[in-house]
Amino acid sequence: MRILRNSKRERELFNKVQATLEKEREGIHASDLLAPRLSYFRKLFPLPLAPEEVGYFAAGHGHHMFLVHLDTGKKGESQEESCTSKKYGITYSPDLRKSKAEFKTARYMKLPVTEKQCIKDFDRYAKQCLIYALCEGVTKWHLYMLYIGLRKVDDAGKMVGGLQAPVLQCYTIMWTEEELAEGDEWLRNQVDLFEEALETKTHAMLPLCEEWQCIRFNTQTRRKEVTCPYFTKCKPKGRYELLKEGLHNPFAEEKK
Ligand code: SF4
Repeated sequence: MRILRNSKRERELFNKVQATLEKEREGIHASDLLAPRLSYFRKLFPLPLAPEEVGYFAAGHGHHMFLVHLDTGKKGESQEESCTSKKYGITYSPDLRKSKAEFKTARYMKLPVTEKQCIKDFDRYAKQCLIYALCEGVTKWHLYMLYIGLRKVDDAGKMVGGLQAPVLQCYTIMWTEEELAEGDEWLRNQVDLFEEALETKTHAMLPLCEEWQCIRFNTQTRRKEVTCPYFTKCKPKGRYELLKEGLHNPFAEEKK
């Protein structure tokens, strides 16, 4: 027997995933509002996706399809609907519109134990669900989390290394009337800012993305490095200055 790696086929599949992901969406999509600065740069200066982004998407999408199939009984369909909100002037694509649910594949090493931890861990997902809830005019949204990167822990909850079996947890996020009113104002404001930034071609008015989207600690090289290809265009305040203090920028090297 022989087993040969088929690099040509790998490249073909990779290109297909990449092409699917790089399809430009018309107008403003709910996902643009979660990291509007990054979306601004992606819209104005599109770049091919990095291999790891394609890999994460393929893995996440596979789990997603299976879970949707379990929930709806429908095979091979994502059930993701492309919807338009006239109220906010955006498009949005909930995973399961009928049952008001969103699936996420997460790589956290530990499960959240308290509600406070869930609020911290799910901040970005909760914002996405809030947009869906506002667009759909409902007060709650379900969040199904598939944890695939959990590490083994001892009885005291301390990590003892090694991967644990994946875990599926289901949550329901609920908002008060007051929180929904605040969310409504936030969403309108985000849409206005994003439109203005695109029209005027200036990004400074847009909020900074989360720090991990700009900079991360590389565990292999043991140093902090830039993770966003638009870092030098964006010059994020309070982070850009770190270049002078030795922050590594692999994208600057690529250009050389
Ligand atoms: S550099 Fe940071 S703030 Fe600017 S677009 Fe990239 S991730 Fe967002």
